[in-house]
Amino acid sequence: MNALDTLAELSGQMELEHAEESHGEPAKSACFTPKEQRAAFVHPAQLPNGKNIKLLKTLLSSACERDCFYCPFRAGRDFRRATFKPLEFAELFMKLNQANAAEGIFLSSGIAAGGANTQNKILDTAEILRKKLGFRGYLHLKIMPGSERGQVERTMQLADRVSVNLEAPNTERLARLAPHKTFLEELLQPLKWVEEIRRSQPAYKFWNGHYPSTVTQFVAGGSDESDLELLTTTNWLMKNVRLKRAYFSAFHPIRDTPLENKAAVDPIREHRLYQASFLLRDYGFDLEEMPFAQDGNLPLPTDPKVSLGTTKPKREAAGDQQSQSA
Ligand code: SF4
Repeated sequence: MNALDTLAELSGQMELEHAEESHGEPAKSACFTPKEQRAAFVHPAQLPNGKNIKLLKTLLSSACERDCFYCPFRAGRDFRRATFKPLEFAELFMKLNQANAAEGIFLSSGIAAGGANTQNKILDTAEILRKKLGFRGYLHLKIMPGSERGQVERTMQLADRVSVNLEAPNTERLARLAPHKTFLEELLQPLKWVEEIRRSQPAYKFWNGHYPSTVTQFVAGGSDESDLELLTTTNWLMKNVRLKRAYFSAFHPIRDTPLENKAAVDPIREHRLYQASFLLRDYGFDLEEMPFAQDGNLPLPTDPKVSLGTTKPKREAAGDQQSQSA
């Protein structure tokens, strides 16, 4: 397998991973053969600063020793696995970058020989890109479950964005999705470390003098959790560890996994969760004000903003009322 074939193998399933504000169809490039273009590993994406770039989304390895119930890469599932060595991936990316086929990277990985060992591979790749090959563009690095605090800090020093996928909103729900991940120790703790490190160290120690932003992702509906549970955790993270945003990926079953017979979740639920999370983050609403039904879910037919009767940030709307009554 040459390096582009490996990339095609590793990026093929990355639509399950949400990152940045992806929009439009995956990019085509003269660098890619028709087979590689079908793998669609370069996605048009909008960065937090509004800039649009071609984002290469890939795994470093699709080999994984964990057995998360929803995941196509779970251990024991029969498919062809592929792995990049850090230098091999970094050099391939720089070729694509020099050909203007890819401008930024979102890098994740399956787990092999533990989360800390896998994080070292991600760090080695980032170090090569930044220090040896001089890449100064956008880098979103995943923090693996079970990473150590020092690794989290080093990841933050190299990345524009870091992420830890919580997958589920709490310990009980995670057990129904990923029985060998621990919610508090392996997933929530690294997010807390990110914020502790931000608070204890000056920004100049980080990439380009800025703290990286933090995001997470949930498998919406994968553990039969409610929207209230998802948004309670999201709200806590936004307030306590300065989570920039949560991504919600509506569950859909993957063949040959323990959840293959579970019904897919309506993608509109994903949309309603985004709308509600933006009301919490940008509009100043409290969780208690969200229009949850008795079962703790947001009504699918209605935009929660419409239910709340507002099209403006809460403070602005409050200002309007004051000026009208003055
Ligand atoms: S650890 Fe990640 S790659 Fe491995 S099975 Fe779980 S979700 Fe999939």
